[in-house]
Amino acid sequence: MKGRSTVARRSLRLRHDDIVQIIAGNDRGKQGKVLKVFPKKGRIIVEGINFIKRHTRPSQQNPKGGIIEKEAPIHVSNVIVVCPKCNSVTRVGIRILEDGSRIRICKHCGEMMTV
Ligand SMILES: [Zn+2]
Repeated sequence: MKGRSTVARRSLRLRHDDIVQIIAGNDRGKQGKVLKVFPKKGRIIVEGINFIKRHTRPSQQNPKGGIIEKEAPIHVSNVIVVCPKCNSVTRVGIRILEDGSRIRICKHCGEMMTV
C-alpha cells in the first residue's frame, strides 16, 4: 500500500457481517460471514474459514494447554462479496450521495448494501 490517498485506500469495501465467497485456497467456493476486518493489513477473518491449529502452552486461562482451532485472517483479494439482495457474487461500488456521504452498492443489482 502506497502513501498519499490513505483516506480512500483505508476504506476497504468490506465490512463485518458481509457475506463473502472464498475464491482461492483450500476453502475456495465456501461462503462465510466476515467477523473482523483489518483495514491496514487488508485482511479479514471469515467465520468458519481458514482454520488453523494452534498449539498453546498451559496458561492460567487454559491450564492444560493443547490445541485450539481458530480462524486465521485471509487477504481480501482471496474473497469476493456476496450481495445479500441479489444473492450473487459481485463487486462493491461506492456511490457518493449529494450530501457527500458514501454508500456501497452492489454492481450486480445496483442495490445499496448495508454499510
Ligand atoms: Zn446485488
